[in-house]
Amino acid sequence: MVSIHLVEVSKLFGAIRALDRVTVDVARGELFFLLGPSGCGKTTCLRIIAGFCDPDEGQVHFDERPMAGVPPHQRNTGMVFQNYALWPHLSVYDNVAYGLNLRRVAAGEKRERVQEALRVVRMEAHAERFPNQLSGGQQQRIALARALVIRPDVLLLDEPLSNLDAKLRLEMRREIRRIHREVGVTAVYVTHDQTEALSMADRIAIMNAGHIEQIGTPREVYTSPANAFVAGFIGETNFLEGEVAEVTDGAPVVLTGVGLIRASAGPAGLKVGEGVLCSVRPESVDVLDGNAVVAAGLNCLRAKVQSSMYLGGTEEFELAADAGDDQILIKAVMQNPGEYGREVGDQVTVVIDPRHVVVLRR
Ligand code: ATP
Repeated sequence: MVSIHLVEVSKLFGAIRALDRVTVDVARGELFFLLGPSGCGKTTCLRIIAGFCDPDEGQVHFDERPMAGVPPHQRNTGMVFQNYALWPHLSVYDNVAYGLNLRRVAAGEKRERVQEALRVVRMEAHAERFPNQLSGGQQQRIALARALVIRPDVLLLDEPLSNLDAKLRLEMRREIRRIHREVGVTAVYVTHDQTEALSMADRIAIMNAGHIEQIGTPREVYTSPANAFVAGFIGETNFLEGEVAEVTDGAPVVLTGVGLIRASAGPAGLKVGEGVLCSVRPESVDVLDGNAVVAAGLNCLRAKVQSSMYLGGTEEFELAADAGDDQILIKAVMQNPGEYGREVGDQVTVVIDPRHVVVLRR
C-alpha cells in the first residue's frame, strides 16, 4: 500500500491540454475517485499513474519515490477496465493466475493466492469456468480478483461498472467497497457517474476540462460545492442569480429575481453589490400550501405547480415562481409525499432554509 502524489501534472495531446497542472494526494488505503464529464482528463490521469503515459510537466510519486522513468510493470499496480479484458481461452483460475505466472510465483503459493483472491470476490465456485460462461458482474469480479492477486500497491479502476445493468451496478458498488475495505489497497477509481462516486468514495476529485475543480469527501462536495460547475455536476440544483444586498456577520442576503434570499454563510470577503449565484438543492425547497402562514419576507415565495412527477418515496415538482414580469422555474423534491399530491396549477408557498443556500461567486 502506498500514497500517490501528483504535483502540477500537465499532459498535452497536440493543442489539447488533457491535464492542466493537476495536483492530487491520495492517502494510503484510500478509495479515491476522479469524477467528471467525458473528455475532462480522468483516464489520462489514471494512465499517468499507471505509467502508460508520461506527463509533459510535473511529477508523480508513490510515497516518496518519484515514478519518472519507472515502467508500468515495475509500479506494482493492478488495473480493472470497463470491458473486463479477460482472456477468453483461459479458465477463471488461469485468468486470475496469469499475473502470478508472469512473476514466476511457485505452484503452491500460486494456488493459495488464486484461491484467496477468488474467495475475496466470492467466486471460488466458478474457478473452472470460462469467461463466456459468466455474467457481466461475475466477469468483473474475476477482473478484480486478477488485479488483486498480485497484491498491488495501487488498484486502478476505469469505469468498471459502466457495462453492467442498473441492478448489478448497485450490487457491485457495495461489493467493490467491501472488497476495498477487506483488502485495504490504495485505489483510484474513474467514473462520470456522480451517484457512483457519492455512494462509494472516501474522497472525490471533480475534474473539468483538464483541471481539478474541487477535492473533498462526498458530503463536502455535495453540501459545500466550491463553484457552480461542482454544484451543477454533483446532483441537481437550482441556481438563482442575484446581487449581494447585505452581509451581516458573514451571512449574506441576496437580491434575486424571486426576491431576497438569505444564506447562513457565504464566501469570505463578499461585498455588497457583488454578483453571485445561490445554489439550492431541490430537496432543500419546502413546498407548503398556498395559504400556509409563514413568517413573511426572506426565503419565502409564492409559486405555481407547473409539473409534478410521483415516484412513490418522493415527488418531484417544477414550480413557477413570480419574478417581476417573468417566471423562474424551481425544482423541488418532496420526501414521503403520501396519498394526496399537488395538482398542476396549484398555488404553493415555497420556503428555503438559509442553512441550505450555498452562495457562489459568479
Ligand atoms: P471519457 O469519460 O470520455 O473516457 P476522460 O475524462 O477519461 O473521458 P481522457 O480520455 O483523459 O478523458 O481525454 C482527455 C482529452 O484528451 C480528450 O479531449 C481526449 O480527446 C484527449 N486525448 C486523450 N488521449 C488522447 C490521445 N492518445 N491522442 C490525442 N488526444 C487524446
